Amino acid sequence: MHAARNTSLCTKDCVCLFVCPTGATDTETGQIDFTKCLDGCRLCVDACPSHAIYLVPSVYPAPQEKSEAVRKSLFALAKSKAGQERLARSLSEASDDPIFKQLMNAVATSNRVLAEDCYREAGYILPQSEAVQLWLHNLLSEHEKDEDFPSDAVKTLLEKL
Ligand code: SF4
Ligand code: SF4
Repeated sequence: MHAARNTSLCTKDCVCLFVCPTGATDTETGQIDFTKCLDGCRLCVDACPSHAIYLVPSVYPAPQEKSEAVRKSLFALAKSKAGQERLARSLSEASDDPIFKQLMNAVATSNRVLAEDCYREAGYILPQSEAVQLWLHNLLSEHEKDEDFPSDAVKTLLEKL
């Protein structure tokens, strides 16, 4: 185990800098220096008033193979969340009450995040980020002459972004 810092929670009051015996918490980037962190010492975790530091395993187990039953359940759940998102968005659009609109937008966003989690858990990438889009474009150009590469599927994915 080693410590990691959530920089968006960190309030920079520096308690962790004083308790860490190795100086691992004192870095320019804000990230804890993995190479200096003592395995599972957690002094900084307990000292941080903002709960910004947590322990993460040094080695993660290999992901488990998803069975067809699990995949089907995840898709069913994702579909239901997508339906709830649509409903919340339409209720928000139909209302003039700003508080109700805000609430429905929050419900819609929450359902969107849950649906995305389901798709990710089912083993699919979600190509919204610029890095993934670039990677897909690179794959297309690298495999331009490769007949076995599913270029059409990648192009369809990129068109839907
Ligand atoms: S103790 Fe917590 S809040 Fe303070 S600097 Fe360290 S990580 Fe940030
Ligand atoms: S777990 Fe211990 S060694 Fe690692 S950063 Fe925190 S205080 Fe320092």
